[in-house]
Amino acid sequence: MTRINGQKIIGSTSYTIKELARDADVNEKTCLRWIEQGLPTVPGGKNPILMRGFEIKDFLRKKDSKKKIKLKRHEFYCLRCKAARSAKRNTIKKLNGRKTGECRVCNGKMSRTI
Ligand SMILES: [Zn+2]
Repeated sequence: MTRINGQKIIGSTSYTIKELARDADVNEKTCLRWIEQGLPTVPGGKNPILMRGFEIKDFLRKKDSKKKIKLKRHEFYCLRCKAARSAKRNTIKKLNGRKTGECRVCNGKMSRTI
């Protein structure tokens, strides 16, 4: 699953399913699934269903953090691979509270806080 882009959602605006699908760049079925998963809707607004922007943002943020990958001690999150990767042993450096290294798989630069 791709990361949902909640950047375009405006907190002070109410959204219909159609508008949310357009602005979050997902299809309408996905929006309906979000509601089933606990995305709050505006009470009384059954037709059309309305959702508040700030609640959508909040919902997506929580959804996102749940998906966050847990890294083991020696692992980095590689932005290129979009996965937890080990660094090549001789590339690991510690700098200003961060650890950097090169990805074993794609050679991309990776870093994490210590
Ligand atoms: Zn990589």
